[in-house]
Amino acid sequence: MSRQHDAPTRRQSPTADRPSGPTRRGFVTAVGAGAVALGGLTVSGSAAAQEATPRLVFTYDDGYVEDYTQTFAVHRQLDAPACAAVPSANVGRSEKFLSQSQLTEMAEAGWEVMSHGVAHEALGQVTLTERVSADDTKLYTDSTVLSRTPHEVEVFAGDTRATGTLTGDGEDGSYLQLESALGTSFESGASVRFTEDVVRDTLSKSKQSLSDRGFDVDSMVLPYGRYDERALSLIQEYYDSVANVQRGGLNSTAAIRPYRLSRAYFDEDRMSESELTSFMDRVVSRKSLGLLGGHSRNPALTGERIKLAIELAQERDIEIVTMRTALQEIGVVESTATPTSTSTSPATGTRTPTTTPTSSTDSDTSFVGGFVDWLFSLLN
Ligand SMILES: [Zn+2]
Repeated sequence: MSRQHDAPTRRQSPTADRPSGPTRRGFVTAVGAGAVALGGLTVSGSAAAQEATPRLVFTYDDGYVEDYTQTFAVHRQLDAPACAAVPSANVGRSEKFLSQSQLTEMAEAGWEVMSHGVAHEALGQVTLTERVSADDTKLYTDSTVLSRTPHEVEVFAGDTRATGTLTGDGEDGSYLQLESALGTSFESGASVRFTEDVVRDTLSKSKQSLSDRGFDVDSMVLPYGRYDERALSLIQEYYDSVANVQRGGLNSTAAIRPYRLSRAYFDEDRMSESELTSFMDRVVSRKSLGLLGGHSRNPALTGERIKLAIELAQERDIEIVTMRTALQEIGVVESTATPTSTSTSPATGTRTPTTTPTSSTDSDTSFVGGFVDWLFSLLN
């Protein structure tokens, strides 16, 4: 608890550099009685959080242009901010995706930009479904999600570990194709995931790329909702929270777990109107932090559904905020005492873009398309 004696410090500007401390949480000294910030652990509510306010954060994934043409328009009309979780390589990638100017306009209107990987990389693991011999170059797995963004992977079981480089997947989509054999055999049930360097690269480059585009990014949404304990541990070095580790969408304000947040999809095919109403009632009765997510490209996430959700919240005096504002108000991160932003919405910390970086062509060519994400999410 000695951290409570530390002077409150505003954490540093977004950077891709690895922090010197054990976790980002280590930089933060939450204000208020009983508040302590520990990586991955429950953060006791601050004094402010004890008088909990029901809050709601909307998050929209994948950076499709419909975030702007449909969703942003509804949110703006009802004066409610939201968050866009954007794979950094998607910005300006094609007319299907948000352009730099659209995302900038959203941020200037109070939206928060969140990380969603560089090219929507799966940060968790998949499982071998067949034995792999030392000279095999095919990994039969329960999912080929890793092949959508081919990188170096590690295969491991117990103390045995080998690495290889993915080049894609099989024609029938049932196996991961390796550039060369592992040189080690593994039985069915072994795990496959990207190497730590790949995960670190994804976490840092996503943040840096969005930062270079003028957006402060300090929370993330897991691509495909996939994670493992290593991923959550590494994420803490770069980000303040993860929005979609659990499902349900109701988070205790008094014992918030920023790296294990729960989010619910509110598309019409995932949540009925009565379920949405009940969700809002529970946000109020439990004084929760509610998290809702969706994909603006999904035909089941209509403007009408978004309007309904916002109005149900506003009728109940639920405070609709960005993730950053929620984390600040709850005491998980420091409030911005002296905003450096010239934005009309200081809480977003939005800056004017200073550079026009080129997107990663390497990632672009390997990215299959986030449209599969919400399709995939239906299967989860
Ligand atoms: Zn996604």
